[in-house]
Amino acid sequence: MKPTNLEMLTTFCLRYGLLLDDDMQAKLSSFCDMVLDANTRFNLTAITDEDAFAVKHFADSLSGASEIPVGADVCDIGTGAGFPSVPLAIARRDITVTAVDSTAKKTDFVRGCAGMLGITNIDCVAGRAEELTRFRGRFDAVTARAVASLPILLELAAPLLKIGGIFVAYKSDESELYQSKSALKTLNMQYLRTKTLQLPNGDQRAVLTFKKTDETPKKYPRPYATIKKRPL
Ligand code: SAH
Repeated sequence: MKPTNLEMLTTFCLRYGLLLDDDMQAKLSSFCDMVLDANTRFNLTAITDEDAFAVKHFADSLSGASEIPVGADVCDIGTGAGFPSVPLAIARRDITVTAVDSTAKKTDFVRGCAGMLGITNIDCVAGRAEELTRFRGRFDAVTARAVASLPILLELAAPLLKIGGIFVAYKSDESELYQSKSALKTLNMQYLRTKTLQLPNGDQRAVLTFKKTDETPKKYPRPYATIKKRPL
């Protein structure tokens, strides 16, 4: 990764209180190379140039770091090529991340990268978030970026959280909040706050944080077809 992109990224992160040391910068840089290289063989991301990658994948993924509690056990739903899971695991050595995706090819890729880069605080699981019954009630925090609408995401995330755990949704604005009222109530989730920010390229982003206030009723999550057909 070009020094100018690393500089842009470290300046961006510092503004939000996140210090990227040399080791973190080196790992981010190598991970960028790995994704862009693999992307020429199989489709991982629509972003194919390094400048856009630094902003839209790295700065964006790291914009949620401030919402994740110290030492948290985190689950990233629909991690794809590793966003936000990999940048978060690199920049926050205090947390552990379980990166989940329904496509094994993607989790295999992320696992391979983590192995090569020596990132030890990330685990990769191939599976659908709504079918991870073994993880029910386990996590301090759940993240998701570009996976589904907020009411759907809340149904996937809430069951995985401990009571008191938080869900961090990466969105471009708060608009979906207004269609999530009934999902929040049904799932015993509470909206806490929105961090709005501008990425270095001027794009607006919104990181929405929710808290699980009580047990998720047993009937949730429903099968994905039902969730999609009848969102809460
Ligand atoms: N979070 C990544 C990828 C977004 S694309 C990023 O921001 O770049 C959405 C990803 O979510 C896809 O890789 C898809 O396989 C995965 N996905 C969609 N629904 C899912 C579900 N119910 N459980 C797990 N993964 C899911």
